[in-house]
Amino acid sequence: MSKQRLEGKVAIVTGGASGIGAEAATLFVENGALVVIADVNDELGLQVASSIGVEKVSYHHCDVRDEKQVEETVAFAIKKYGSLDIMFSNAGIAGSFYNILDLDLNDFDNTIAVNVRGAAACIKHAARVMVERKTRGSIICTASTASVVALCGDSAPYGYNTSKHSLLGLVRSACGELGAYGIRVNSISPSYVATPLACEALGMEASEVESAVVAGANLQGIVLKPIHVAQTALFLASDESAYISGHNLVVDGGLLAVNSPVS
Ligand code: NAD
Repeated sequence: MSKQRLEGKVAIVTGGASGIGAEAATLFVENGALVVIADVNDELGLQVASSIGVEKVSYHHCDVRDEKQVEETVAFAIKKYGSLDIMFSNAGIAGSFYNILDLDLNDFDNTIAVNVRGAAACIKHAARVMVERKTRGSIICTASTASVVALCGDSAPYGYNTSKHSLLGLVRSACGELGAYGIRVNSISPSYVATPLACEALGMEASEVESAVVAGANLQGIVLKPIHVAQTALFLASDESAYISGHNLVVDGGLLAVNSPVS
Protein backbone atom coordinates (compact mmCIF):
# COMPACT_ATOMS: atom_id res chain seq x y z
CA MET A 1 0.00 0.00 0.00
CA SER A 2 1.27 3.51 -0.81
CA LYS A 3 2.62 5.40 2.20
CA GLN A 4 1.07 8.64 1.00
CA ARG A 5 -2.41 7.93 2.26
CA LEU A 6 -3.17 11.62 2.92
CA GLU A 7 -1.50 13.10 -0.16
CA GLY A 8 -2.73 16.65 -0.81
CA LYS A 9 -4.84 16.80 2.35
CA VAL A 10 -4.73 19.47 5.03
CA ALA A 11 -5.32 18.55 8.67
CA ILE A 12 -5.71 20.31 11.99
CA VAL A 13 -4.69 18.29 15.05
CA THR A 14 -5.81 19.78 18.35
CA GLY A 15 -3.79 18.72 21.36
CA GLY A 16 -1.02 18.09 18.84
CA ALA A 17 1.79 19.21 21.16
CA SER A 18 1.89 15.95 23.13
CA GLY A 19 0.97 12.28 23.32
CA ILE A 20 -1.54 10.96 20.79
CA GLY A 21 -1.84 14.31 18.95
CA ALA A 22 1.92 14.71 18.45
CA GLU A 23 2.12 11.16 17.13
CA ALA A 24 -0.82 11.75 14.79
CA ALA A 25 0.63 15.01 13.46
CA THR A 26 3.89 13.18 12.67
CA LEU A 27 2.13 10.24 11.03
CA PHE A 28 -0.19 12.49 8.98
CA VAL A 29 2.82 14.39 7.61
CA GLU A 30 4.66 11.12 6.85
CA ASN A 31 1.58 10.18 4.85
CA GLY A 32 1.59 13.32 2.72
CA ALA A 33 -0.61 15.74 4.68
CA LEU A 34 0.04 19.35 5.60
CA VAL A 35 -0.74 19.81 9.28
CA VAL A 36 -1.60 22.57 11.72
CA ILE A 37 -0.87 21.63 15.31
CA ALA A 38 -3.25 23.51 17.60
CA ASP A 39 -2.56 23.53 21.31
CA VAL A 40 -2.24 25.69 24.42
CA ASN A 41 1.29 24.45 25.13
CA ASP A 42 3.19 26.77 22.78
CA GLU A 43 6.66 25.65 23.80
CA LEU A 44 5.94 21.97 23.22
CA GLY A 45 3.83 22.64 20.12
CA LEU A 46 6.63 24.60 18.46
CA GLN A 47 9.13 21.89 19.42
CA VAL A 48 6.99 19.15 17.89
CA ALA A 49 6.41 21.21 14.73
CA SER A 50 10.11 21.89 14.27
CA SER A 51 11.01 18.25 14.88
CA ILE A 52 8.54 17.17 12.16
CA GLY A 53 9.72 19.83 9.70
CA VAL A 54 8.41 23.35 9.21
CA GLU A 55 7.64 22.97 5.48
CA LYS A 56 4.85 20.48 6.23
CA VAL A 57 3.59 21.51 9.65
CA SER A 58 2.75 24.74 11.47
CA TYR A 59 1.96 25.45 15.08
CA HIS A 60 -0.98 27.69 15.98
CA HIS A 61 -1.95 28.60 19.54
CA CYS A 62 -5.51 27.50 20.24
CA ASP A 63 -7.41 27.02 23.46
CA VAL A 64 -10.34 24.92 22.26
CA ARG A 65 -12.53 26.29 25.06
CA ASP A 66 -12.50 29.62 23.20
CA GLU A 67 -14.62 29.41 20.06
CA LYS A 68 -12.92 32.45 18.52
CA GLN A 69 -9.51 30.77 18.78
CA VAL A 70 -10.89 27.65 17.11
CA GLU A 71 -12.37 29.75 14.29
CA GLU A 72 -9.05 31.56 13.88
CA THR A 73 -7.16 28.26 13.75
CA VAL A 74 -9.40 27.01 10.96
CA ALA A 75 -8.91 30.31 9.09
CA PHE A 76 -5.14 29.97 9.62
CA ALA A 77 -5.12 26.48 8.05
CA ILE A 78 -7.10 27.70 5.04
CA LYS A 79 -4.85 30.75 4.58
CA LYS A 80 -1.63 28.80 5.00
CA TYR A 81 -2.44 25.60 3.09
CA GLY A 82 -5.52 26.42 0.99
CA SER A 83 -8.06 23.91 2.38
CA LEU A 84 -9.19 21.85 5.34
CA ASP A 85 -9.84 18.14 4.79
CA ILE A 86 -9.27 16.64 8.24
CA MET A 87 -10.13 17.91 11.71
CA PHE A 88 -8.63 15.69 14.39
CA SER A 89 -10.28 17.09 17.51
CA ASN A 90 -8.08 15.39 20.04
CA ALA A 91 -7.29 17.94 22.78
CA GLY A 92 -8.44 16.74 26.15
CA ILE A 93 -7.87 16.84 29.87
CA ALA A 94 -8.58 14.25 32.54
CA GLY A 95 -9.88 16.43 35.35
CA SER A 96 -9.69 15.00 38.83
CA PHE A 97 -11.08 11.94 40.59
CA TYR A 98 -13.81 12.57 43.19
CA ASN A 99 -16.41 10.93 45.33
CA ILE A 100 -19.75 12.26 44.16
CA LEU A 101 -20.34 13.69 47.65
CA ASP A 102 -17.28 15.92 47.19
CA LEU A 103 -17.56 16.65 43.48
CA ASP A 104 -15.81 19.88 42.50
CA LEU A 105 -18.18 21.37 39.95
CA ASN A 106 -15.62 23.90 38.73
CA ASP A 107 -13.26 21.08 37.79
CA PHE A 108 -16.25 19.24 36.26
CA ASP A 109 -17.21 22.32 34.16
CA ASN A 110 -13.65 22.84 32.96
CA THR A 111 -13.31 19.22 31.86
CA ILE A 112 -16.58 19.46 29.94
CA ALA A 113 -15.45 22.80 28.46
CA VAL A 114 -12.27 21.29 26.99
CA ASN A 115 -13.50 17.81 26.10
CA VAL A 116 -17.02 18.56 24.83
CA ARG A 117 -17.42 22.29 24.18
CA GLY A 118 -13.97 22.33 22.58
CA ALA A 119 -14.85 19.41 20.32
CA ALA A 120 -18.17 21.06 19.41
CA ALA A 121 -16.34 24.24 18.39
CA CYS A 122 -13.86 22.20 16.32
CA ILE A 123 -16.62 20.29 14.55
CA LYS A 124 -18.65 23.46 13.95
CA HIS A 125 -15.86 25.52 12.41
CA ALA A 126 -14.32 22.66 10.44
CA ALA A 127 -17.76 21.74 9.07
CA ARG A 128 -18.51 25.35 8.13
CA VAL A 129 -15.52 25.59 5.81
CA MET A 130 -15.95 22.04 4.52
CA VAL A 131 -19.59 22.71 3.62
CA GLU A 132 -18.79 26.11 2.09
CA ARG A 133 -15.93 24.66 0.02
CA LYS A 134 -17.70 21.38 -0.78
CA THR A 135 -14.88 19.41 0.84
CA ARG A 136 -15.80 15.80 1.60
CA GLY A 137 -13.85 16.00 4.83
CA SER A 138 -13.19 13.71 7.77
CA ILE A 139 -13.75 14.85 11.35
CA ILE A 140 -12.37 12.64 14.09
CA CYS A 141 -12.70 13.11 17.85
CA THR A 142 -10.65 11.34 20.46
CA ALA A 143 -13.11 9.92 22.97
CA SER A 144 -12.05 7.11 25.34
CA THR A 145 -13.25 3.75 26.62
CA ALA A 146 -14.72 6.11 29.25
CA SER A 147 -17.23 7.03 26.52
CA VAL A 148 -18.74 3.54 26.82
CA VAL A 149 -18.17 2.56 30.44
CA ALA A 150 -17.41 4.78 33.42
CA LEU A 151 -13.91 4.59 34.84
CA CYS A 152 -14.61 4.20 38.51
CA GLY A 153 -13.36 2.71 41.72
CA ASP A 154 -13.26 4.30 45.16
CA SER A 155 -13.62 7.59 43.29
CA ALA A 156 -14.23 8.53 39.67
CA PRO A 157 -13.20 11.15 37.12
CA TYR A 158 -16.78 12.44 36.92
CA GLY A 159 -16.02 15.24 34.48
CA TYR A 160 -14.01 12.93 32.22
CA ASN A 161 -16.54 10.08 32.17
CA THR A 162 -19.39 12.51 31.52
CA SER A 163 -17.48 14.42 28.85
CA LYS A 164 -16.48 11.32 26.89
CA HIS A 165 -20.00 9.84 27.04
CA SER A 166 -21.31 13.23 25.78
CA LEU A 167 -18.77 13.32 23.00
CA LEU A 168 -20.39 10.27 21.38
CA GLY A 169 -23.73 12.11 21.27
CA LEU A 170 -22.02 15.07 19.67
CA VAL A 171 -20.26 12.90 17.07
CA ARG A 172 -23.44 11.00 16.21
CA SER A 173 -25.49 14.21 15.88
CA ALA A 174 -22.90 15.81 13.61
CA CYS A 175 -22.59 12.60 11.60
CA GLY A 176 -26.34 12.64 10.96
CA GLU A 177 -26.36 16.22 9.75
CA LEU A 178 -23.08 16.35 7.83
CA GLY A 179 -23.60 13.13 5.89
CA ALA A 180 -25.67 15.16 3.43
CA TYR A 181 -22.47 17.03 2.52
CA GLY A 182 -20.30 13.92 2.26
CA ILE A 183 -18.52 14.81 5.51
CA ARG A 184 -17.72 11.92 7.85
CA VAL A 185 -17.61 12.22 11.64
CA ASN A 186 -16.14 9.46 13.80
CA SER A 187 -14.57 8.96 17.19
CA ILE A 188 -11.74 6.84 18.53
CA SER A 189 -11.91 5.33 22.00
CA PRO A 190 -8.55 4.20 23.36
CA SER A 191 -8.00 2.54 26.70
CA TYR A 192 -5.12 3.79 28.87
CA VAL A 193 -2.04 5.06 27.01
CA ALA A 194 0.97 6.23 29.00
CA THR A 195 0.87 9.92 28.00
CA PRO A 196 1.21 12.92 30.35
CA LEU A 197 -2.61 12.98 30.66
CA ALA A 198 -2.80 9.40 31.96
CA CYS A 199 0.29 9.78 34.17
CA GLU A 200 -1.15 12.89 35.80
CA ALA A 201 -4.62 11.40 36.22
CA LEU A 202 -3.31 8.22 37.80
CA GLY A 203 -0.42 9.86 39.69
CA MET A 204 2.03 7.39 38.12
CA GLU A 205 5.19 7.42 36.01
CA ALA A 206 4.77 6.29 32.39
CA SER A 207 6.39 2.92 33.14
CA GLU A 208 3.97 2.35 36.06
CA VAL A 209 0.99 3.18 33.84
CA GLU A 210 2.23 0.69 31.26
CA SER A 211 2.69 -2.03 33.89
CA ALA A 212 -0.81 -1.41 35.23
CA VAL A 213 -2.22 -1.50 31.69
CA VAL A 214 -0.45 -4.78 30.91
CA ALA A 215 -1.74 -6.29 34.17
CA GLY A 216 -5.35 -5.42 33.30
CA ALA A 217 -5.18 -6.01 29.55
CA ASN A 218 -7.06 -8.58 27.55
CA LEU A 219 -4.70 -8.66 24.57
CA GLN A 220 -1.25 -9.72 25.72
CA GLY A 221 2.12 -9.20 24.07
CA ILE A 222 1.57 -5.57 23.07
CA VAL A 223 1.21 -2.33 25.03
CA LEU A 224 -1.11 0.38 23.71
CA LYS A 225 1.04 3.32 22.57
CA PRO A 226 0.15 6.70 21.04
CA ILE A 227 1.20 5.36 17.61
CA HIS A 228 -1.61 2.76 17.68
CA VAL A 229 -4.18 5.50 18.23
CA ALA A 230 -2.50 7.70 15.60
CA GLN A 231 -2.68 4.83 13.08
CA THR A 232 -6.40 4.54 13.79
CA ALA A 233 -6.79 8.28 13.21
CA LEU A 234 -4.84 7.93 9.95
CA PHE A 235 -7.27 5.24 8.78
CA LEU A 236 -10.30 7.37 9.66
CA ALA A 237 -8.71 10.43 8.03
CA SER A 238 -7.89 8.60 4.81
CA ASP A 239 -10.12 7.52 1.93
CA GLU A 240 -9.71 3.91 3.09
CA SER A 241 -12.56 4.61 5.53
CA ALA A 242 -14.65 6.42 2.86
CA TYR A 243 -17.96 4.83 3.97
CA ILE A 244 -17.37 4.88 7.73
CA SER A 245 -19.21 7.59 9.64
CA GLY A 246 -20.79 7.86 13.08
CA HIS A 247 -18.53 5.07 14.31
CA ASN A 248 -16.81 4.88 17.69
CA LEU A 249 -13.67 2.88 16.96
CA VAL A 250 -12.57 1.30 20.22
CA VAL A 251 -8.81 0.71 20.51
CA ASP A 252 -8.51 -1.32 23.69
CA GLY A 253 -7.23 -4.78 22.73
CA GLY A 254 -10.70 -6.24 23.28
CA LEU A 255 -11.12 -5.02 26.85
CA LEU A 256 -14.67 -3.72 26.47
CA ALA A 257 -15.69 -6.68 24.35
CA VAL A 258 -15.05 -9.07 27.20
CA ASN A 259 -16.03 -6.77 30.07
CA SER A 260 -18.98 -5.07 28.42
CA PRO A 261 -21.82 -4.02 30.70
CA VAL A 262 -24.14 -4.44 27.70
CA SER A 263 -24.52 -8.14 27.11
P1 NAD B 1 -1.57 14.53 26.47
O1 NAD B 1 -1.66 15.19 27.79
O2 NAD B 1 -0.29 13.91 26.05
O3 NAD B 1 -2.05 15.52 25.31
C1 NAD B 1 -3.16 16.36 25.46
C2 NAD B 1 -2.85 17.67 24.72
O4 NAD B 1 -4.04 18.48 24.77
C3 NAD B 1 -1.72 18.47 25.37
O5 NAD B 1 -0.78 18.86 24.40
C4 NAD B 1 -2.42 19.67 25.97
O6 NAD B 1 -1.63 20.84 26.02
C5 NAD B 1 -3.60 19.82 25.02
N1 NAD B 1 -4.69 20.60 25.61
C6 NAD B 1 -5.18 20.53 26.88
N2 NAD B 1 -6.14 21.46 27.05
C7 NAD B 1 -6.26 22.11 25.86
C8 NAD B 1 -7.08 23.16 25.41
N3 NAD B 1 -7.96 23.77 26.23
N4 NAD B 1 -6.96 23.59 24.14
C9 NAD B 1 -6.06 23.00 23.31
N5 NAD B 1 -5.24 22.01 23.67
C10 NAD B 1 -5.35 21.57 24.95
O7 NAD B 1 -2.71 13.41 26.49
P2 NAD B 1 -3.21 12.34 25.43
O8 NAD B 1 -3.38 11.10 26.19
O9 NAD B 1 -2.41 12.35 24.19
O10 NAD B 1 -4.68 12.94 25.15
C11 NAD B 1 -5.20 13.12 23.87
C12 NAD B 1 -6.66 12.70 23.87
O11 NAD B 1 -6.73 11.29 24.09
C13 NAD B 1 -7.53 13.33 24.93
O12 NAD B 1 -8.77 13.72 24.39
C14 NAD B 1 -7.72 12.22 25.94
O13 NAD B 1 -8.92 12.34 26.67
C15 NAD B 1 -7.75 11.03 25.02
N6 NAD B 1 -7.50 9.73 25.65
C16 NAD B 1 -6.34 9.51 26.34
C17 NAD B 1 -6.14 8.30 26.96
C18 NAD B 1 -4.89 8.02 27.75
O14 NAD B 1 -4.88 7.04 28.54
N7 NAD B 1 -3.82 8.77 27.58
C19 NAD B 1 -7.09 7.29 26.86
C20 NAD B 1 -8.26 7.55 26.14
C21 NAD B 1 -8.45 8.78 25.55
